[in-house]
Amino acid sequence: MAYDSDHLFRLAQDDHLGEVVDLEKRIGETAIGDSETLFAQLIRRTLAAWSRAYGGPDQPGAPGDMLRRILAAARAAIRRILDSLTPRTATVLGESLSEALALGVRQGGEFVRAASGRRRRAVAVPRVGRALLDEAHRIGELVVQRRDRALFLLHPDRVSRWSHLLAGLGAARAAVPAVRAHVAWVVNTAVNEGLDAVVRASARMRLWVSEASACVNCLAYTGRTALIGEPFPGGRSWDPRQRRIRAPGVDGPPLHAHCRCRCVPWSDFWTASGIPFPLALEREAHRSLAYGRARPTESRAARLRAARELLRTEPDLLPSVEARARTAVRTGRFTAAA
Ligand SMILES: [Zn+2]
Repeated sequence: MAYDSDHLFRLAQDDHLGEVVDLEKRIGETAIGDSETLFAQLIRRTLAAWSRAYGGPDQPGAPGDMLRRILAAARAAIRRILDSLTPRTATVLGESLSEALALGVRQGGEFVRAASGRRRRAVAVPRVGRALLDEAHRIGELVVQRRDRALFLLHPDRVSRWSHLLAGLGAARAAVPAVRAHVAWVVNTAVNEGLDAVVRASARMRLWVSEASACVNCLAYTGRTALIGEPFPGGRSWDPRQRRIRAPGVDGPPLHAHCRCRCVPWSDFWTASGIPFPLALEREAHRSLAYGRARPTESRAARLRAARELLRTEPDLLPSVEARARTAVRTGRFTAAA
């Protein structure tokens, strides 16, 4: 039975990715707990203390016991919040790794069935390996780095204005998004390990499937295949400035923080009812480049360089895609998608 590429898109980019996002969220919420509220309260409380002591946030502080007390209270609160965040994150992540692996295995099986048209024997969920556990536990370092930075900034010698104090509190609070990013990283790594187990059992190749809103680097990988056990070429990007020559190969996604790309099992013997899926992925990447669908972390300049590169290297673009890319390069901006 032939597969339909649109169906595979929906399965991989909507249904399966949605399940991964839900899992990330659930783990992230448990890990973060009430840290965000506690930080907001700490900032309010500290601002009130500063205002009482010096007359307002725009008034300079004066060295002395009062300043030392305000800072000691802030430092103690930061230690309390962050020192409970680390073990909570490590615990919930450790407990969820096998669930994320199992999710990857199940999704891989569903994908193979949809692409090959055949039901297969279920693949056993691999054990959680050392590398994945180490990755999960790395959260400790990430939080400690932010905590120590905050404690350094909140020293009486370094604080004479409210803005200095706020910068120290902000450095500590930055641990919260760092935890979220790390949870996403570990979950996506585990899901991809689960997918790899299905690849080993049922296909010869891995096919890179980017998320719909991928960056210019991931878009250079989507639609590409690698044989089992072989890496993808490293350093690829549609933006020539982000390209790295002689970069080591990459095993697979996630390629960067908050990357939700995946590698699915693939075989060139599976037949398409229309456009083959790898080609459909490549065309989707071209469209994304021509329309300049940038992630919040990407600059317009990078997306414009990528659009120019698309025109330079792809002679057979669909006319509508080529027209979009030409307009963007000529005018220096992308118009909203119709
Ligand atoms: Zn990606």
